[in-house]
Amino acid sequence: MSVNLLDFDAESLTAWFAEQGEKPFRARQVLRWMHRSGVADFDAMTDLAKSLREKLRARAVVVPPAVVSDKLSDDGTRKFLIDVGNGNAVETVFIPEDDRGTLCISTQAGCALDCAFCSTGKQGFNRNLTVAEIIGQLWQANAALGAVHGDERVISNVVMMGMGEPLANFDNTVAALRLMLDDNAYGLSRRRVTVSTSGLVPVMDRLREACPVALAVSLHAPNDALRDQLVPINQKYPLKDLMAACRRYLEKAPRDFITFEYTMMAGINDADAHARELLALVRDVPCKFNLIPFNPFPGSPFRRSPADRVRRFADILIQAGIVTTTRKTRGDDIDAACGQLAGQVRDKTRRTAGRTIPLQEIRT
Ligand code: SAH
Ligand code: SF4
Repeated sequence: MSVNLLDFDAESLTAWFAEQGEKPFRARQVLRWMHRSGVADFDAMTDLAKSLREKLRARAVVVPPAVVSDKLSDDGTRKFLIDVGNGNAVETVFIPEDDRGTLCISTQAGCALDCAFCSTGKQGFNRNLTVAEIIGQLWQANAALGAVHGDERVISNVVMMGMGEPLANFDNTVAALRLMLDDNAYGLSRRRVTVSTSGLVPVMDRLREACPVALAVSLHAPNDALRDQLVPINQKYPLKDLMAACRRYLEKAPRDFITFEYTMMAGINDADAHARELLALVRDVPCKFNLIPFNPFPGSPFRRSPADRVRRFADILIQAGIVTTTRKTRGDDIDAACGQLAGQVRDKTRRTAGRTIPLQEIRT
């Protein structure tokens, strides 16, 4: 089978070209055609010698994953469903704002971490996405939005907050991140590319060394008893270890703060006491908070915290000097809001057949 050149970052593409007896600058030219110009057809790469184009055609392909649907929300949010084969599909969401355009991309078909309040988690897990499938979401979104030639005015920011846990698919995530940052590919600033993690502590250290970008950490609870239930990976990497990992990450991060995401669920984690407990928890971690009113999905046992509760909770953090924003719900008319992404996952974990935690056991 031919290799898919969208699976390579600059370094591995250069190595592959060397194996074919080709010079590094040829790899660079092809990289620019693929990612800056959105070209998949070797014959359209007009500054390559005909003999090289023929060689490439014989040995390689450039195949992004197919877009199977493209929905536009009333607020301008746009959701793409991307086919990744064998009955699996993932979602990619474009969120336009006045001063930027953010693309939210997926890294896995499903997610194995099973957070109690997440639609993706409830779908189970099938597999990691390949580099071509991760970067292919940016490729396809650029094409659909009419933005080629590395035009940053359309997609200026990327957040890995779609389906899946990026740090559980480390190698492919890092290769895709490197393409996003590469001037011969998408040329995005490190500060405008964010990885969101539920807190895979040892992998946070690896990311810091391999490719430090902005980091968001899904906190959702101020103590281990509650977080153990909402974010089960906490049982393995408890809050004390997570806070220490955040501090270590900041030593090399492109931004001087961690963003803590906190999904607000009525009667679960939204009391004043929880906010005060958070202040103690993050005392030594320079951070900002992003409160996300819970987005319901079919079968979810939680309710969104009322707006005045979210405001009061935010005020407690703000009064203590922590920059706190509340995420606007975008695209919920097309099920594109945080935590609503479900795509289509052929669960291999059999979780979907199994347990759900009764609500009364979650309150702490
Ligand atoms: N797996 C990564 C990134 C994807 S989720 C992570 O967990 O960080 C992106 C954000 O949406 C996370 O903070 C996640 O906890 C949050 N989220 C999940 N389900 C949600 C829901 N139903 N309502 C609001 N936010 C949700
Ligand atoms: Fe996975 Fe993130 Fe959803 Fe948790 S919140 S199940 S880590 S995608």
